[in-house]
Amino acid sequence: MAWTARPVYNTAALQGVIGVLLMVGSVSTGGIFDSHVHVGRWVLPDFRGHSTSLEQSAAVLASSGIDGALVMPTDSGDNAGLIGSLASYAGPVRFAVAAWAIPDDSAIGGLLDAHDFRAVKIHPSFCRVPVNHDSWSPAISAARQRGLPVIVHCGRWQEMAGYGLLLQAADAWPDVKFVMAHMGGDSPSLVLSAAVGVASRGLRNVFMGTESIREYWIVAEAIGIVGADRVLFGSDHNLNSPVSFLAVIDAIGLDEQARSMVLGGNARKLFGFDNG
Ligand SMILES: [Zn+2]
Repeated sequence: MAWTARPVYNTAALQGVIGVLLMVGSVSTGGIFDSHVHVGRWVLPDFRGHSTSLEQSAAVLASSGIDGALVMPTDSGDNAGLIGSLASYAGPVRFAVAAWAIPDDSAIGGLLDAHDFRAVKIHPSFCRVPVNHDSWSPAISAARQRGLPVIVHCGRWQEMAGYGLLLQAADAWPDVKFVMAHMGGDSPSLVLSAAVGVASRGLRNVFMGTESIREYWIVAEAIGIVGADRVLFGSDHNLNSPVSFLAVIDAIGLDEQARSMVLGGNARKLFGFDNG
């Protein structure tokens, strides 16, 4: 597949990871991987023009003990800017990159083929189009053809970004893997309902991202419902501090295997991060 041509952006860090794997003599999935990181400047006025460069974000992630992350643009949708930053990036964190999709984007296939994208990001609220609308078909179809997962923002705005709309999309696209961002919506009752929805529909193609969920007990309950193999740690940096959301996972007290899956193993597998 196209993305195997340029598999990693930081070969020095990869060598470090390989060295650690050799030392422990295992096929460990590696260190902590943050599956939801934005880089660049925000447009939404509420975010006050907040901005980080790739290097600034890498320093924050590294100081939080994170050695890999999926990065994506902000609501500026600046895929070209992010790709440009990655071209000159030298570490210390290894990055995979998600393309920011827009509705009715017939050119997205060409974009995905031109760069080493590992996922497609859909933000229904910013784009004012629900994920189950036909306008997202070009983006979802392009991801499907390339075997890439689709990350979908879910929030409290049910008509636009409700988790139920993503469940419908996941039903309609059974061979596309979806990441339900913010575990289906930033509220305990939404997270619980979303987890029950995933499990009761038997949707094996839906994962839940923990970014911005503060209530460790509802994350624990959701893991109990959907399984530790379906939950991905995410921080929503550069808006949030990664350590805040690592603390949420720590507070759950998962066993070592489940913890390692949630903190990186699942995401590395989903984004093909250790295969390149
Ligand atoms: Zn986000």
